[in-house]
Amino acid sequence: MSNDAPLRLSLHCPLMIDGEEGKATSGRRFTRENPADFREVASTAEQGTLEDTRAAIDAARRAFDSNGGNWIGNYKLREQTLFRTARLMRENADRLARVVSLEVGMPMRQAAPHVAAAADIFEFYAGLAGKLYGESFTLPSGSMINLVKEPVGVVGMITPWNFPLTQTARKVAPALAVGCTIVIKPSSYTPAATYELVKLIHQSGLPKGVVNLVPGPGDVVGAEIIASKKVDKISFTGETGTGKRIGAQAGKEVKRMSLELGGKAPYLIFDDADVEAAARAAVFGMFRNAGQACGATTRLLVQQGIHERFLRRVVELTRKLEVGPPSRPSTDMGPLISSTQERVVQDYIKYGIDAGFRLVTGGQKLSGADHDHGYYVEPTIFDGVDNASRLGQEEIFGPVVAMTTFRDEAEAIDLANAVEFGLVAGVWSADYPRAMRVARRIRAGTVWIWDNYAQPVEGIWGGYKQSGMGRELGYHGLNDFIEVKQIFTDGTGLAMKPAYGQVIKD
Ligand code: NDP
Repeated sequence: MSNDAPLRLSLHCPLMIDGEEGKATSGRRFTRENPADFREVASTAEQGTLEDTRAAIDAARRAFDSNGGNWIGNYKLREQTLFRTARLMRENADRLARVVSLEVGMPMRQAAPHVAAAADIFEFYAGLAGKLYGESFTLPSGSMINLVKEPVGVVGMITPWNFPLTQTARKVAPALAVGCTIVIKPSSYTPAATYELVKLIHQSGLPKGVVNLVPGPGDVVGAEIIASKKVDKISFTGETGTGKRIGAQAGKEVKRMSLELGGKAPYLIFDDADVEAAARAAVFGMFRNAGQACGATTRLLVQQGIHERFLRRVVELTRKLEVGPPSRPSTDMGPLISSTQERVVQDYIKYGIDAGFRLVTGGQKLSGADHDHGYYVEPTIFDGVDNASRLGQEEIFGPVVAMTTFRDEAEAIDLANAVEFGLVAGVWSADYPRAMRVARRIRAGTVWIWDNYAQPVEGIWGGYKQSGMGRELGYHGLNDFIEVKQIFTDGTGLAMKPAYGQVIKD
């Protein structure tokens, strides 16, 4: 097969419950179309039911409560599971990249590093398994406080489609590192990519029931995971709207939850910025995965003095992007995920034109042999956008970018913060103290200075405001999956302690 050949794989996502692959009790399957060519089926999946979901939750509950294989106590086993998974991912990297590319429409040039990044996450957390040191404190009385960290229990993980392996790895790897058990509900756009990862996790030799997978509709499988009293924690990544609904429901049970939600990332370019470096970084952040990224660069906030030069260079780079089949090695940008998303993106483009913003490049649905059967829209930039408009405020999740100018530092910070989201941002200025000052004022979970979209596993990922709660990646990523327990031990040896005198007289 030449590298340019269409990706043809026979992909099916079964249920994975208690270590066994199985069929849905509904007897039904659903299909995922190939977004690059909707005449083809990319994958099929079992359509999980309420009953299947409950069986998966029960398996995870049993595995946790029975501590099968001493999963909770034996950190060496967890460490090995994670290391082996990473190794298996690297050995199967080409297949994994092809599956992701096929289901998501992600160019192979992006899918391959995506696999490597997910394997890195497993390796990082393998190194942290068993390193959850507690704290200990001795009071003046001699009594001792021990704070021990324990796994939160059964975790329900509901994942999105845009980066299916890393999004799943960011949850699964730290949860396994601390000894949790898991039920995963994958996006209905990417069941096979998620299954391919879960299959490798199972091949790494973990006890049965520790990782379970139920593909199926969000409002059936996902809803049951959230409602079930047997699930201790929800870890969700997806749209802010879905996150709000899930949060409200989980809150009723005081269920622990972490939410990784949408973004509307600003990218601030000051007059003294390195135009070439800033323009390249911007184009990378704007059109990677066709702009379908929570941290995508969506708002270019540019100081007046550099505006024309920066815009010219960004447009030059954008017009050179090759939009085409994900399997073609030279493709820079692939299709959108679905016809629905294509319509959403086209509606935003129409809105931008109708609102009178300057369409400087793109704006069209692509046609021709490469594009007629996929969801291809040109990389699109609007200039002169009012930050308060829908283009400046709403998450589009596509290759549509809004450029706005600012006068000074104070206005730049105001514009950057004047959205409901707060996931990531970028700052470009040759004046480092200013860049740092601005970075400190932006209300976002990550601010890049002189770079864009760097997500090292050693760092963190998570949002301020309506971009979510909790932090993934790095050491902080473990905290989402632990409870801290206090064990208090008397050190006085007294039968009648001074405090008891408040109740007992003699
Ligand atoms: P959605 O919110 O549409 O779906 C996310 C997951 O939730 C899917 O598995 C979906 O299942 C499930 N779901 C949908 N409805 C329910 C429900 N009622 N109860 C329980 N589960 C449900 O998001 P997308 O998959 O479209 O992902 C894109 C979004 O994710 C963007 O907003 C993006 O910004 C955000 N995101 C955030 C990241 C971050 O780290 N902050 C990273 C990546 C993406 P089904 O597919 O079956 O509908």
